[in-house]
Amino acid sequence: MTARSKTRRGLPLTSTSIEKIFPKLTPAQIDRIKAHGHIRAVQRGEVLVEQGDTSVPFFVVIAGELEILRPFGADETLVTVHSSGQFTGEVNTLSGRKSFFRVRAAKSGKVIELKHQQMLTLVQTDAELGSILMRAFILRRVELIAAGVGDIVLIGSTHSAGTLRIKEFLMRNGHPYSYIDLDRDPDVQNMLDSFQISVSEIPVLICRGQVVLRDPSNQEIADCLGFNESIDQTQVRDLIVIGAGPSGLAAAVYGASEGLDVLVLETSSPGGQAGSSSRIENYLGFPTGISGQELASRAYLQAQKFGAEILISKATQLICDRKPYVVEVEGGGRISARTVVIATGAQYRKLPLENLSRFEGTGIYYGATFVEAQLCGGDEVIVVGGGNSAGQAAVFLAQTTKRVHMLVRSNSLADSMSRYLIRRIETSPTIVFRPNTEIVTLEGIDRLDSVYWRNNETGQTEQHKISHVFIMTGADPNTNWLDGCMVLDPKGFIKAGPDLSSEDLSSVNWPIKRQPYLLETSLPGVFAVGDVRGGSIKRVASAVGEGSIVISFVHKVLQE
Ligand SMILES: Cc1cc2nc3c(=O)[nH]c(=O)nc-3n(C[C@H](O)[C@H](O)[C@H](O)COP(=O)(O)OP(=O)(O)OC[C@H]3O[C@@H](n4cnc5c(N)ncnc54)[C@H](O)[C@@H]3O)c2cc1C
Repeated sequence: MTARSKTRRGLPLTSTSIEKIFPKLTPAQIDRIKAHGHIRAVQRGEVLVEQGDTSVPFFVVIAGELEILRPFGADETLVTVHSSGQFTGEVNTLSGRKSFFRVRAAKSGKVIELKHQQMLTLVQTDAELGSILMRAFILRRVELIAAGVGDIVLIGSTHSAGTLRIKEFLMRNGHPYSYIDLDRDPDVQNMLDSFQISVSEIPVLICRGQVVLRDPSNQEIADCLGFNESIDQTQVRDLIVIGAGPSGLAAAVYGASEGLDVLVLETSSPGGQAGSSSRIENYLGFPTGISGQELASRAYLQAQKFGAEILISKATQLICDRKPYVVEVEGGGRISARTVVIATGAQYRKLPLENLSRFEGTGIYYGATFVEAQLCGGDEVIVVGGGNSAGQAAVFLAQTTKRVHMLVRSNSLADSMSRYLIRRIETSPTIVFRPNTEIVTLEGIDRLDSVYWRNNETGQTEQHKISHVFIMTGADPNTNWLDGCMVLDPKGFIKAGPDLSSEDLSSVNWPIKRQPYLLETSLPGVFAVGDVRGGSIKRVASAVGEGSIVISFVHKVLQE
């Protein structure tokens, strides 16, 4: 689906479910929508939405035609045409983020117009229309991603760690983009040369055909795409959730659906560690498994549907000596809230190898998703670790690679991995289990070229020409930004609820009569859920469970 000609039919689709992507509403459904908005006459050529507008309205065509166009520089590509009974919108219409497209009347007629908030009320209150709209928005986004039709072009290389980072950032934020691979397209390299863009500035991102970003940070991309533009950072929130992994997203869904004003802060993209999982098979309700990415994007959309807002930014400090609490974000912004849920999870542990960071993203990976699997092609790979995440990665990579060497320091997997995964590893002809083994040296110039591993039982070291190593050796809590605000356990995880001893509470002068609620930290009104909490069960289901139940305690604190 690459050819994009300007025809009256718009872009070709990969899906055959056209009636679900572009449904025609019934007269009864249209009447129900009318009750939420107003009728507006439109003239041929009138622009109703411009590319880059935020919190755009939602339109249902009653008479005439609306064309959806993608402007790029001076050009315009026709994406689709909506006629009577059809409606505009895709995922950004729900989130209020910048519109990818221009909406223009192709024929004069009449439309129903719903402002952004009116459209949110419609999807929250009318179950039938809510599901028709949500399904169409998601399917339209899937088509845009498949077609690489967005408002940005990424120019990168498989040899650059930044390219992998940006691809993951865009993929996990569900943002469509076009990609040009410098290794395959020498003409583009010449073009970059003429703009004096050096190798160290790769990857390059062209944002909306205008702004050229050289090796941008995730924050710069979020700013350029206007991810955070529609969010009012001056308002005092009922609840700030920090971290959009499974626990934070669950807190956002439950909090927003129960009427709280919720803002979620996320450093990178929704999904957390779960988002880097190729297939989660033990999450209730998904008998054939679900990819972490898919679970996260559904939860993300669900949170937005209930009105939670998500700011792509890192919390750098909690100012905890006053109320309302203040969370400082990267770049210096400050957001106040009456309650805070910390759901910052954990980050991958690294191997103690001198030159490890040189190969991160170009041979050393911390997640095994479709993006990394594509980079490996049919090569041999190494997975390091003996836990469930390592087991899943090995099983997933065994489907596409030539051989998976699974390196663990202990002599068996029995204590650390689920039985179903051990069985799959044992029966896979592609996976070679190597106990008592650890990597001792990495070698390569531009990218990882050779790995040396040592068998600690025999003392023998071997060199292998392998360029892809997946490190899945557990994680440390993301709590160093909390800077003494609350009691942590010796490993740095947050202590909460009944785990806080009377000594813990007196050490911080716990200021109120009642004891901390379940999941409440040593700071009243600040809670910890999921992997970041000491003693939590490090699983998606328990993270979701904690994120869900914490909201009942948030309500109690808000009423105090
Ligand atoms: C590869 C892999 C596979 C797994 N497979 C399974 C499985 O099959 N089944 C299962 O039950 N469990 C699985 N797990 C474990 C599961 O993913 C975790 O237990 C779960 O994700 C924990 O959720 P969480 O929300 O507590 O934290 P996380 O998922 O760690 O999310 C924390 C989020 O907070 C963000 N964050 C951190 N610091 C900040 C900050 N300062 N400001 C803003 N945001 C911040 C992070 O970017 C992240 O998105 C797997 C884990 C991995 C790594």
